[in-house]
Amino acid sequence: MSAGAAGGPRVLLRRLREVMAEPESAQVRLDKLVRAIAANMVAEVCSIYLMRAGNVLELFATEGLNPEAVHKTRLKVGEGLVGTIADNATPLSLPEASSHPKFAYRPETGEEIYHSLLGVPILRAGHVAGVLVVQNRTMREYDEDEIEAMQTIAMVLAELVGQGQLVEAAEIRQTEYARKLPYRLDGQVLAEGIAQGIAVLHEPRVAVERLIAENPAEEQDRLALAIGALQKSIDDMMASGDMIAEGEHREVLETFRMFAHDKGWRARIQEAIKTGLTAEGAVERVQMETRARMIAITDPYLRERLNDLDDLANRLLRHLTGRADTASKDILPDDAILVARSMGPAELLDYDRTRLKAVVIEECSPTSHVAIVARALGIPLVGRTEGVLDRIDAGDAIIVDGDVGQIFVRPTADVLAAYGDAMAVKVQRRAEYAALRDMPAESLDGVSVSLMMNAGLTVDLPHLAETGAAGIGLFRTELQFMVSATMPRLAAQVELYGSVLDAAGDRPVIFRTLDIGGDKVLPYLVGPREENPALGWRAIRLTLDRPALLRYQLRALLMAAGGRPLSVMFPMVADVSELRAARGILERELSRLERLGQPRPSRLRVGTMFEVPALAFQLPALRPYVDFISIGSNDLFQFFFAVDRANPRMADRYDTLAPSMLRFLRQIVQECDAAGLPIGLCGEMAGRPLEAMALIGLGLRSISMQPGAIGPIKAMVRSLNVAELARYMDTLLTLPDRSLRGKLRNFALDHGVTI
Ligand code: PEP
Ligand code: MG
Repeated sequence: MSAGAAGGPRVLLRRLREVMAEPESAQVRLDKLVRAIAANMVAEVCSIYLMRAGNVLELFATEGLNPEAVHKTRLKVGEGLVGTIADNATPLSLPEASSHPKFAYRPETGEEIYHSLLGVPILRAGHVAGVLVVQNRTMREYDEDEIEAMQTIAMVLAELVGQGQLVEAAEIRQTEYARKLPYRLDGQVLAEGIAQGIAVLHEPRVAVERLIAENPAEEQDRLALAIGALQKSIDDMMASGDMIAEGEHREVLETFRMFAHDKGWRARIQEAIKTGLTAEGAVERVQMETRARMIAITDPYLRERLNDLDDLANRLLRHLTGRADTASKDILPDDAILVARSMGPAELLDYDRTRLKAVVIEECSPTSHVAIVARALGIPLVGRTEGVLDRIDAGDAIIVDGDVGQIFVRPTADVLAAYGDAMAVKVQRRAEYAALRDMPAESLDGVSVSLMMNAGLTVDLPHLAETGAAGIGLFRTELQFMVSATMPRLAAQVELYGSVLDAAGDRPVIFRTLDIGGDKVLPYLVGPREENPALGWRAIRLTLDRPALLRYQLRALLMAAGGRPLSVMFPMVADVSELRAARGILERELSRLERLGQPRPSRLRVGTMFEVPALAFQLPALRPYVDFISIGSNDLFQFFFAVDRANPRMADRYDTLAPSMLRFLRQIVQECDAAGLPIGLCGEMAGRPLEAMALIGLGLRSISMQPGAIGPIKAMVRSLNVAELARYMDTLLTLPDRSLRGKLRNFALDHGVTI
């Protein structure tokens, strides 16, 4: 413990326990607690703010600030430093609080004389129930130990709040009322499909009743026993016949098992026990730290690792409290829809799959381990649904539309009816799409369009046969690297690429070399922090600087092809010289193959992504070095309009169907056609019927999209007269309109095009 704290956390915890046990009102106990905390932390001020109805934080007790301010000073969540701590649910430590942009001076408190501030959220059942703050007159830096001590105290306070004497039950009910209204939320499609059912909350919280230890040695023993039981249960799960044998989810679960044996994690819990907590209190403390770190981390790979640790901590808590269950051990309704804040891959496998119709997870992205497992199991999953758990109770009706990424909580009768109709239409549509599976993607006037699918993991491969895709137009090889804990070895790469080619059979596959860097950081490949990662050291720029990485990947691709045709494509090429350099590395690998007497691909095609506008002015120079081009419209749009594709504020500012963007695309397509260079497109535009229609109108004849879009796009193509559309589009591209979306939609409606 730091020099700043008197007596250390164990002394304070003991004192807190005494205060908690006194037969006084909750308010009196709170007043005593702030005094004890201020004395122990050697701080002039200690204040407790609690959350009231309407997301308002109210000062409930203070030592050091003006006592008159108690129950008067109120801050909205997000307002001032206290509101910011509640909003982010993370600690804030500031040597000079008044210079923070969020500082909000409240004259009634008299706090201007205090310079430094340390505040931590009071968390209960995963929600912010208040904020605990200490302040000092001097400008001081609070150290790690002090922040940890404050978090431990906040846990104990959360218990007091939970007793319901401080904020009245009536007020809690008032917030409950708002929770009961119907609610619609947009999320992200992570596994396709639609379902309607009853909400089951994944994590009925394990209530830790005893936080303060009587006998630390005994707690260390309890921890050791529980960790042993946890490791055994995971080993058993991995060995069970129920597990699907192959695919990335296996690798993902192996990583999970590795964590359960991690010594660093165990040591952190042991340390927390030494500060005076019980074993379960210590696990919760470490878990809270992990969650706080999770909020701050944007790197998807690291977030996923922390997510796994959260899953493990929950399991460990269940072992310690003897309540070894999530909702997976309850009897599920027949149409269960699982709702979770976050979830590990192993946890999903605990559920009875015959009753599980869909999953909603607040914190989840396409490379989340649980998403990979859900796709392998064919369970619809919608992610990035922040706040859903604040609005839902177990047993509520819920609709999950995993085709468009929407969820409806407690839908009203009309929504239910409308959705019932829409679902019936979807079911019917899906049957129609399935019937189209083996039909050609040919327009009314006889133009054939090649509809390919995008993929990245083995779990995507069954979609080839299900959708009748013409091939894989984009295989994102970086996904294998992103789900692995260590750099995938040559053999693992060969195995994956080989299985993709096996699954595709005669259908073409375009492998894109590693598109990492930017925000796709791999922990085993760290570069410097960048101001503008999207414009930085990524994709081909990175692999040309780390040629061994590219060489091994190309070697793996050539070995996997083993004499079959092979198409390789390089991402983010901005200059012909980059492509020539990459080709040089490929040539070396081909020579090596020859030296070893191994077969060359029967046909080798080399292509480039077209994502950087500069490439548009190098097409003649590029021509001798490429066999095809694929437009990456996601990145191209971002660089064309200078608009960050991940910034939600900019999401509606420009449109991919702007005349300028479409003219640009048409120019590229026409130039490539004239040069006899095959060109396709593999960004998200390809999977949206209206956008895909426009692309075909511009002259594109090969597009690659997410598997679920193949059916709808084929239906669109088969109802379209391409010549008529092309003539119409010629009249549109010089208009001053911001977007041609409305005009194109009207064209589709007037001409009976299925969009
Ligand atoms: C693109 O940029 O359009 C593309 C297909 O690549 P990614 O989305 O993987 O960046
Ligand atoms: Mg891209």
